[in-house]
Amino acid sequence: MTVVQPPNRREEHPLRALYKPSAAPGLELIECPEPVAGPGEVKIRVERTGICGTDLHIESWDAWAASAVNAPLIIGHEFSGRIVELGEGVTSLEVGALVSGEGHVICGTCRNCRAGRRHMCKNTSSVGVNRNGAFADYVVIPASNVWVHSDAVDAELGAIFDPFGNAVHTALQFPLAGEDVLITGAGPIGLMAAKVARHVGARYVVISDINETRLALARRMGVDVAVNPVTSSIAEVQRQLGMKEGFDVAFEMSGAPTALPDILDNLAHGGRIAVLGLPSKEISINWAKLVTHMITIKGIYGREMYETWYAMNALIQTGLDIRDVITDRFPATDWQSAFAAARSSNAGKVVMDWS
Ligand code: NAD
Ligand code: ZN
Repeated sequence: MTVVQPPNRREEHPLRALYKPSAAPGLELIECPEPVAGPGEVKIRVERTGICGTDLHIESWDAWAASAVNAPLIIGHEFSGRIVELGEGVTSLEVGALVSGEGHVICGTCRNCRAGRRHMCKNTSSVGVNRNGAFADYVVIPASNVWVHSDAVDAELGAIFDPFGNAVHTALQFPLAGEDVLITGAGPIGLMAAKVARHVGARYVVISDINETRLALARRMGVDVAVNPVTSSIAEVQRQLGMKEGFDVAFEMSGAPTALPDILDNLAHGGRIAVLGLPSKEISINWAKLVTHMITIKGIYGREMYETWYAMNALIQTGLDIRDVITDRFPATDWQSAFAAARSSNAGKVVMDWS
């Protein structure tokens, strides 16, 4: 890309973007031209971004990335920033507002879109995966994908609204008041889901992980029990807690092949499972148990547009504090350290500063 210097630009440095130049491993922090908001679009000066597992897949260029990502492109989809330009026809937003963006850009014409089930659009295009993303000084997205934050949210919290949305969308699938909740996977999303479950009135919140650093983080974030299924067992946790009939609701948030069978072994009859974790291969489960125990299992993808965003804001406004999931902060120029921290699995959420 060539460097363009718009005459009225006020940045003190050339415009930066974290760029995937070709269908191969690696990323480059490049100088790039300032994007322009087209009709119906909004240009945002990015302030903070969060690193998602998706970004790590794109950096290393694994089989998923090779099949799903439209390189070359600017990557990144978890962000917050301020609106600096409204494209033609955009009247519902204001320059200066602190915003994040729903990263799933929908077609608007398929059956689900027309029915208002926009999160189920079959033609979704993803920011930072199929179109230029937010790991840059500026990002342009459709105005309809912009979420304006309330005063309860600052730039750092706004940067993790996308994965917080995954946690909220999963956690609110089934009623949780008074219920016992099992979460497999204490990654950032599992940790935030645990906090949501507690906030909306679950009785016991138990989380499992095979990583002791993340189990320790989960304990600091207030789960009742954080268990390593390799050295202990979820059945043992049930005994410790005096539970007799199994968990009422489970969230699968690890993608690990043993997690879903672990859940089925520890769920009450009639139990409900929301599955967010993305396994990299097929998983074998005991279907006879699923049938005879009358289990409901539901796949969860993304966030509901835009009910989840309203719920996220309401949860924060009623005192839910998820900030302790952010463990590492780096300037964008030190993106390599930020990616290394995210890849180490010893961090919670890793945030990069573009301001
Ligand atoms: P993450 O990889 O940071 O966390 C997953 C955690 O699961 C890790 O801490 C890992 O140690 C743990 N784990 C591994 N094996 C386990 C086992 N046997 N039992 C319990 N825990 C185990 O991921 P994240 O960012 O928190 O995301 C959670 C999952 O959701 C990932 O699988 C991710 O790919 C997926 N995801 C799905 C969507 C969606 O829209 N469906 C969106 C974002 C992320
Ligand atoms: Zn559609």
